[in-house]
Amino acid sequence: MPSPHQFVLLGFLPGLLFGSFLNVCISRLPAHQSIAKPRSHCNSCGRLIRWYDNIPVLSWLVLRARCRDCAAPIPWRYPLVEIAVGLWFALCANKVLSALDGVSPPVLGRSIFASEAVAALGLAILGFLLLGLMVMDWQTQRLPDAFTLTGIVLGFGVTCIQAFLLAPVESPAELIVPRIAAIAVAAFLLLAIRWLYRILRRQDGMGLGDVKMLAMIAAFLGLDQTLLTLLAGVLAASLYGLALLALRRANAASKLPFGSFLAAGGLCSALFGQPIVAWYLSLMR
Ligand SMILES: [Zn+2]
Repeated sequence: MPSPHQFVLLGFLPGLLFGSFLNVCISRLPAHQSIAKPRSHCNSCGRLIRWYDNIPVLSWLVLRARCRDCAAPIPWRYPLVEIAVGLWFALCANKVLSALDGVSPPVLGRSIFASEAVAALGLAILGFLLLGLMVMDWQTQRLPDAFTLTGIVLGFGVTCIQAFLLAPVESPAELIVPRIAAIAVAAFLLLAIRWLYRILRRQDGMGLGDVKMLAMIAAFLGLDQTLLTLLAGVLAASLYGLALLALRRANAASKLPFGSFLAAGGLCSALFGQPIVAWYLSLMR
């Protein structure tokens, strides 16, 4: 049994590698390029990147943020995304560790633990997708289907696996049916907001990518945490917009990358949503 430090490291190191892969997705998916071919190359001079210049974070530091061949700057986005995914995976590994603590009695405990481990895997996937979508929307105003639609399928798949692992404890339908409803409600809710905005402002305030992304969050987290995501996203985007207006950096016609705020809301909701929802529901009683 690994120690807590080793366990967290077991999450952090693969997280760095997945972060490196996420950088490739962020660079290529919004431009409809393949993520498999060609191999990683410098965007300025086109030279292939050597394996030792492709080590997450370290290579960026050693190269002092410049291409070895043409000295073109390598954006700080690269190490930042790698570290963010590393930290997120470390957090997920820690969740598996804390679930291990509560394994007893043997049979029921085993299925609960397996379900918690699958939930942590789902959390890792959701974080990877949301971090990528957050950066892509900020930089290109695009939320590729390769992340959002694939995410809906993955999130629902993880929920189904969890439901069947929990079958000795509760009926699978108790998890799966509300989850399907959550995906539908999230999509319809955002479609309704989009439609209302279009009527009031006579222009599109958000794209269909935002609709698909919220449905994806619902597939992973369920309805309560999705509503919390929407609330957090709208609040953060409004505050940011007001700050820009106050600083005269924007006017009423400026467009905000709403998807980035929604993705950030989703990350917060995934981390802190359960206790917040539980607290809110306790107030309702
Ligand atoms: Zn170069």
